[in-house]
Amino acid sequence: MIGAIAGDIIGSVYEYHPIKTEAFPLFGEGSSFTDDTVLTAATADALLQGAGFGESYQSWGLRYPERSYGSVFRQWVQSGDLAPYGSWGNGAAMRSGPVGFSAKSLDQALMVAKRSAEATHDHPEGILGAQAVAGSVYLARSGASKDEVRAFLVSRVGYDLGKSLAEIRPRYRFDATARGSVPQALTAFLESTGYEDAVRKAVSLGGDSDTLACIAGAVAEAFYGGVPEAIWNRALGCLTCELGAVVVRFYERFQLPHCWGETRAPLPAPPTRTTTAPSPRNRPRRRDLSPVAAGWS
Ligand SMILES: [Mg+2]
Repeated sequence: MIGAIAGDIIGSVYEYHPIKTEAFPLFGEGSSFTDDTVLTAATADALLQGAGFGESYQSWGLRYPERSYGSVFRQWVQSGDLAPYGSWGNGAAMRSGPVGFSAKSLDQALMVAKRSAEATHDHPEGILGAQAVAGSVYLARSGASKDEVRAFLVSRVGYDLGKSLAEIRPRYRFDATARGSVPQALTAFLESTGYEDAVRKAVSLGGDSDTLACIAGAVAEAFYGGVPEAIWNRALGCLTCELGAVVVRFYERFQLPHCWGETRAPLPAPPTRTTTAPSPRNRPRRRDLSPVAAGWS
């Protein structure tokens, strides 16, 4: 979940100032969380509370009104009317990472992703975008290879992943439709060598950068077994107390590994801990670690 949030914060600077390079500072003075983070937290909160997705999106949207929402979503939040509005944008995809982290099966991930999307994005493309991300997160955290994630996206979701990032990047522009951004963000993950690399690649497409990095970051966290500690700490430090509290509760409830990397603060090591960087096929599962987030719980 923090993988999605950190991606959003890292990409926030470049949403309206696109870049075509992977060489950029991860965090700067302008880095801040946007609608992607608020609504990812809203999804997690709904899952934690067993509450309705629509109610959660409206409640969190009202609490954080100035976070770059789409105009139709903003009107929906303010209306108090829970009827969906048929969007085929990437808004349902960007907030669906927690669904994949909490699901007990691929079918459950797809079913819950559909329900979360349908609160607003009840167009088939909006739903597919959410299912693509939640399904990829579920598969990635369940030990699937990148080839298996790719096969799911191509054969079950129906995405065309035939182009590499190098082929997509030169002509790519801001595109907030699900079909025009979710496959591209997932391609960034599929070509990545680690969490940070996935986020850098997503931003380097020069599009809806915060959302591309949010989506790539969610799946990368699941695949690589966490987020590097420095990024975890920096991202958490950008959040409000109540957003941070949702993050911590989510990691505790679903027993997710809280960070990845050899430089993390001393913590009890699980029996299976390796001393070398994990390969995709040798990823440690640090399910016995609690999030280090003093002051947030
Ligand atoms: Mg955003």
